[in-house]
Amino acid sequence: MSLTCNTMKFEVPDLPYDYSALEPYIDEETMRIHHDKHHAAYVNMLNGAVEAAGIEGKTVEELITDLDSIPEAQRGAVRNHGGGHYNHSLFWEVMGPVNGEMSPELNAALLDAFGSLDDFKAKFQNAGMTRFGSGWAWLCSNNGKLEICSTANQDNPLMKGVDCDGTPIMGIDVWEHAYYLNYQNRRPDYINAFFNLINWEQVAANYAAAV
Ligand code: MN
Repeated sequence: MSLTCNTMKFEVPDLPYDYSALEPYIDEETMRIHHDKHHAAYVNMLNGAVEAAGIEGKTVEELITDLDSIPEAQRGAVRNHGGGHYNHSLFWEVMGPVNGEMSPELNAALLDAFGSLDDFKAKFQNAGMTRFGSGWAWLCSNNGKLEICSTANQDNPLMKGVDCDGTPIMGIDVWEHAYYLNYQNRRPDYINAFFNLINWEQVAANYAAAV
């Protein structure tokens, strides 16, 4: 621990696997550009906005759950880049080369909410497909009950007024930058491929933390 008083800045978390670990579903080049360039840009812009607003020291969750408290001049930047940082940090961790086991609690909640795993996938796929333009599809815990929704741009269910409630426990990035090199305009194929990458053990941990 340093004894100097530099304010902690947000940082891009390391991927919990190699850049090539998600192949063939997501290619190495896409992962490198997405993590090292896109996510890094959100973090840099977030740090700049937080510094300009004089609101250092908050967590990214604190920032995006209470955007009304951000000075108006930086509110849009904190929304876009704070959302971008939070969303991508979640995205990296809910994927992996190994699916892991979902907990009995998550399994029961999925069946209760959607009827079957296939019905869950169909509804999640539809949420990602029908998000016009750039955005995210989410699996959220709303007081323990699971719901699927989507948001535009780098918005997030933790933000107020986004027509998407609860705590996100899994999300998929449906911006073109997430899939265009490998899938071009074929967003459905990308979302189908994503189902092979879900780290259910992590999603279950996120669910347990949210309940
Ligand atoms: Mn992205």
